[in-house]
Amino acid sequence: MVYKSNPRAWLPACCVLCGVALHGLLDLCAACANELPLHRDGCPRCAMPLEGAGGAPCGQCQRQPPRFDACLAALRYDYPVREAIGRFKFHGELAAGRVLALLLARRIAALGPEYRAGITLVPVPLHPTRLAERGFNQSERIARVLARELALPMAPALAARARRTDDQKALDAAARRRNLATAFTAAPCRAQRIALVDDVITTGATLDALAAALRAAGAARVEAWCLARSL
Ligand SMILES: [Zn+2]
Ligand SMILES: [Zn+2]
Repeated sequence: MVYKSNPRAWLPACCVLCGVALHGLLDLCAACANELPLHRDGCPRCAMPLEGAGGAPCGQCQRQPPRFDACLAALRYDYPVREAIGRFKFHGELAAGRVLALLLARRIAALGPEYRAGITLVPVPLHPTRLAERGFNQSERIARVLARELALPMAPALAARARRTDDQKALDAAARRRNLATAFTAAPCRAQRIALVDDVITTGATLDALAAALRAAGAARVEAWCLARSL
């Protein structure tokens, strides 16, 4: 895949956030790394920012928990993460996605090998027509980095998107849920422990629907690993 429209896609030896020239392994300068909006205090279930809860889930998750078991997001979806994810997804700047995925991998690695033992990575699938438009699945790119860095298997074929669900923004929560209820299909995955991989978690409705499909197909546990948490 060639991205002629974005010359920065060809210049991985500069910081993906500010453009300063670099010589390190990570395409991120020290100044930007120090100012990243790291996301540490999140609800263990949905990653909604939650300070001083001592690991207890948020009120929303206590009332109506999502159908995924846990959610981990490395960053808050604020400046400059929002802009970097936009350039990754919509302008094919793969170096930006790679840097953010490496930060997520470090975050998961810091939790120790037990945390990820037995996990299979499943990127959130794109509908084939959307995949053809974009040229790549951003979640699959993130999952590839996690698979390599954390030595985890990846099984993209376990989940597929059966229907396009584009215009979710105009829908309220209940309508979103209905719209997504039949959006995904899952292959048999009895007793597997799955981590869904996505770029941004916003309402969690997509991950919820996908987790439900995988659970119905036999998954023992489904969690979500995302680059960033949006409010
Ligand atoms: Zn920088
Ligand atoms: Zn929650």
